[in-house]
Amino acid sequence: MKFILAGFHEEVNSFTPGRTTWEQYFKAFGQDEIDFAATHQREIASTDMISAAYKVLTEAGVTIVPGGYMNSQSGPIIEQSVLDRFIEHLTGVIKENLPVDGVVLLVHGAAQAERCEDPEGTILEAIRRLVGEKAVITVGCDLHSCITEKMAENANAICGYQEYPHIDMYETGLRAATLAVRMARGEINPYMAYVKIPMIVPASGYTTGTEPFCQIMNEGKRLIADGTLYDFSVFQMQPWLDVSVGGSSAVVVADSKEKAAAVAKDFAARLYGMRHAFKSDLTDVDTIIDIAEKNTTGKFVVLNDFADSSNAGAIGDSAQVLAHILKKRSDVRALMYINDPGLALRCREVGVGNPIKDKVGGWCSTLYPPVAFEGKVKALFDGDMSMVKGNVSSFGPSAVIQVRNTILIVTTRHHANGRIGLYRCFGYDPVNFDMVVVKACTSFRASYGPLTDLIYPADTVGPASSNLTAFPFTHISKKFYPFTDNDDFVPEVNAWGKQNF
Ligand SMILES: [Zn+2]
Repeated sequence: MKFILAGFHEEVNSFTPGRTTWEQYFKAFGQDEIDFAATHQREIASTDMISAAYKVLTEAGVTIVPGGYMNSQSGPIIEQSVLDRFIEHLTGVIKENLPVDGVVLLVHGAAQAERCEDPEGTILEAIRRLVGEKAVITVGCDLHSCITEKMAENANAICGYQEYPHIDMYETGLRAATLAVRMARGEINPYMAYVKIPMIVPASGYTTGTEPFCQIMNEGKRLIADGTLYDFSVFQMQPWLDVSVGGSSAVVVADSKEKAAAVAKDFAARLYGMRHAFKSDLTDVDTIIDIAEKNTTGKFVVLNDFADSSNAGAIGDSAQVLAHILKKRSDVRALMYINDPGLALRCREVGVGNPIKDKVGGWCSTLYPPVAFEGKVKALFDGDMSMVKGNVSSFGPSAVIQVRNTILIVTTRHHANGRIGLYRCFGYDPVNFDMVVVKACTSFRASYGPLTDLIYPADTVGPASSNLTAFPFTHISKKFYPFTDNDDFVPEVNAWGKQNF
């Protein structure tokens, strides 16, 4: 059997200024993609799905044809040429290798390009057109995907992460590739029901491990364990994506049409019924600083500035918390990270050990201003850091600045903001501080949760704020919650996946 293995990952925030360019992607084409998939072993990274899919396909004796792999940090709308170039490469590879038995496509699932509201649907449609009705196409994607009718109709199965924080990327890759192999061998011929849910809720407002969302996820896992379903996903679309095709959804894969439809509709109705529970209780920044100053538990306080989460497309350039510390003249021992390429370079001119008087943050987002400070440059880095074995994360030229008792890590590129390793790789361990600023929605709970329960979502502003009705949405349906709130949602199957024989 011959399969195409390809990936295109980006989670777009429509409200982040700028464009995501070709240069901003990690890219692997041809043998590079195979080498990457083969050597990039199980880690907490969004690249995990491809290594899992590679393993499944290889063990099944499938000839793997690399269709191209691109992965970017969450960010603004994608330049159209980036998407066009990826599709051109992928379709070129498919044409050269026809006929193929299957395609495993790995995506984030919430992309948007300048002239395309549905990049993943467009990619899947292009693939289907070439490989034909009989070839199997499965998709692995994020729980925060914007699944569309076009995606569902062109795929045989779509498998989203079932965990948030996302600790099951590898398992999701296994699920997508295993279903593809089983279908291509003719062992199963499942039905996939896709039910759209008219709601978007803040990503900081829930996890899959807590009530009430865990009820649905546990039920789905039980139905898989007892053989009722082949697969299920509940997609809570990342809410800062302003596209007319947007929405949350339930996707269920089963051996009968009735079963798939019934469970997908049930999950959709239950999720919609929970909508009011998916919100963050916010605490103002000054109060969190007060708590950190007075805290005697021995644990550190996490000030969760999720509104500046670069996992949700923000830039990581908010210095709002520093502004509060300076205004209060607080001596709290705080640790924070701010993405500010200009300041990182200016620190090189100042030099290690020297005083610096400058401004930090607010260079990209217009939602908050830069913050003036006086401090000392403590260290400079080239920014190539190893947070996980065998993997270099490049933060670009970076600096450490001390302002009062606060340590600022200033970087040129932003990523890994939810990982405790971000601070540790620069030589600072959160456990040695009173307060640590974490710019992530929920993902950080996987690594911070075991160390502290003093976690406070902060009432800050930013491109990933939980106050969704304050954003200038123009494309997504205003009939959706939270723009409209009524109880008359009746779930229906909006699309069926492809069946391959
Ligand atoms: Zn996600």
